[in-house]
Amino acid sequence: MPLNELTIKQALEKLDKGEITSVKITKACLDRIAKIDSEINACLTICEQEALQEAEEADKRRAKGEKGGLLGIPYAVKDNILTKGIRTTAGSKILDNYISPFDATVVKKLREAGAVLIAKTNMDEFGHGGSTQNSAYGVVHNPYNKQMVAGGSSGGSAAAVAADMCIFALGTDTGGSIRCPASFCSVAGLKPTYGRNSRYGLMAMTSSTDTPGILAKSSEDTAMVMNVIAGHDTKDASSLDEDVADHLLDIDSDIKGIKIGLPDEYFKEGLDEEVRVKINEAIDKFKEMGAEVLPISLPHTKYSVPVYYIITPSEISSNMARFDGIKYGFSDKEAKSLQEVYLQSRGQGLGTETKRRIMIGTYALSAGYREAYYLKAQKVRTLIKEEMDAALKEVDILLTPVQPTCAYEINAHRGDPLAAYLEDIYVSAASLSGVPALSLPCGFSPKGLPIGMQLIGKRLDESKILNIAHQYQKATDFAQQKPEI
Ligand code: GLN
Repeated sequence: MPLNELTIKQALEKLDKGEITSVKITKACLDRIAKIDSEINACLTICEQEALQEAEEADKRRAKGEKGGLLGIPYAVKDNILTKGIRTTAGSKILDNYISPFDATVVKKLREAGAVLIAKTNMDEFGHGGSTQNSAYGVVHNPYNKQMVAGGSSGGSAAAVAADMCIFALGTDTGGSIRCPASFCSVAGLKPTYGRNSRYGLMAMTSSTDTPGILAKSSEDTAMVMNVIAGHDTKDASSLDEDVADHLLDIDSDIKGIKIGLPDEYFKEGLDEEVRVKINEAIDKFKEMGAEVLPISLPHTKYSVPVYYIITPSEISSNMARFDGIKYGFSDKEAKSLQEVYLQSRGQGLGTETKRRIMIGTYALSAGYREAYYLKAQKVRTLIKEEMDAALKEVDILLTPVQPTCAYEINAHRGDPLAAYLEDIYVSAASLSGVPALSLPCGFSPKGLPIGMQLIGKRLDESKILNIAHQYQKATDFAQQKPEI
C-alpha cells in the first residue's frame, strides 16, 4: 500500500517497528499533492521544507526511543487555524499575505506530539459556506467526482484526507463545516463538544459555536487525534475545565443494547431518497449489531436554520470588524482618508458571501431590531438546546442524515444563498446546542457519490460516539473505499 494511504494506526505501527520513516510518509504525501492537487485544489500552501525538517526531527526522536502520540504523522490544517510562520489566509483575499505570528493551541499540541504539518487547506472564506465555493482561491473539487463540490467550509481538509494527500486533517465546525464535507467526501469528521478543544488561534466566525475538530480516515484515527488536541486552555475563556478521558479506552466495547434515537423531524420531506436508503441500511446494521432503535421528536428542528442564520451573521459582523485594512492583511494604498481605507480595503478584500453576512448581522443587531431578531433567536436557541439535551437523556446517541443530498454540482446554488443555507438543516441544531457530532461514511449513491450519517452524542461524550462509530466501521467497508482520481 502506498504510504500516503495509511491510516494513523497503520502508520504508527510501521513507524514503531522501524519499517518506515516519517520522512518517507511525508514525501509520499507531498508527492501525492504534487501529482493530483492541480485537479482538486485542496491545498492553499504546501509547507514542503518545514514538513521535511519536522519529519527528520520526528525520526530522530523515534530513534532515541520515543513512541506513540502522533510522532511523525503528516497532517493538513484548515487555513483559518493559525500556524506560526506559515501563511494563513482563511480563504480570503484580505489575508493573502498574512503570516501567523503564533500557533493555535490545537496546532501547538500537535507540534509537541511530533505530528508533521504539510499543508494549509482551502475553505469557504472565513468559514462562510457549505461547499468551498466561497473561497477567494477557487472551488475544491470532490475527489469522487470532480464536477461536484467537496462540501464545506472545510472542503480542502476533507478532500485532502479522502484523496490521501495527508494522513489526517484539522477543520473547524461552526454550523456543519466539518460534518458536511466529511459526508460529501467519505471520511470521518468530528465536531467535538463546544469548549472541549481550544478555540485559541482560530479565526473567529461565530464565537459561540466555533469548534476545531478532525477529519480522518477512520473513527479510531479520530480518537487518536482527540487524545492529543482535547483539553482545557486558559487562553480560551469558553474552554471547558474538565478531564479528558482516553478516547481509545472503550472504543472496542460491545454496543449491544445501546439506545439509538431517530428524530422524526430529520427524516421528513426534503431528504433525498438515495440518502434515506443508505441511512436506513445503516439503521438496520445497528439493529443487527444489537442496538435498540427508538423514535424521538425534536419539534424545534424547523427553527434551527433560521436561528443559526441570525446568530451567525450577528457574531460575524462583530468578529469581522477587526479586518479594517489597518491591523492586518490587505490595505488599499490608494485610499485618501481613514474612511476610504476601511471602505476600500474591506470592499476589495472581502468576498460577496462575507459581505452579505456582515450586512445581515449588522442589521439584526441594530437598534430597534436587536430584540426582534437577535434576542428572539437566542431564546429559541435555548429551546433547541434544552430539547436536544432532553432527547439525549432518553438515548445514547441520535442517528440522522448529515446533508439532505449527496455532493451537488459546482455552481448549483450560484446566486441562491438561501438554497445553500437550507442544506444546513440537519447540522445546525448540534452546533447551536454545543453537543458533539460525527459524520461517518455509510455508503454511496447509485452514481458513486459518498453518503454520510450523523451520530450526535451527549455533551463531552465523544468517546461513546467514537466507540459506536468504530464498531460500525468494523462491520462495514465504506471507509476503506478510495476515489479513483
Ligand atoms: N454552512 C454553514 C455556514 O455557511 C457552515 C459554517 C461553518 O461551520 N463554518 O455558516
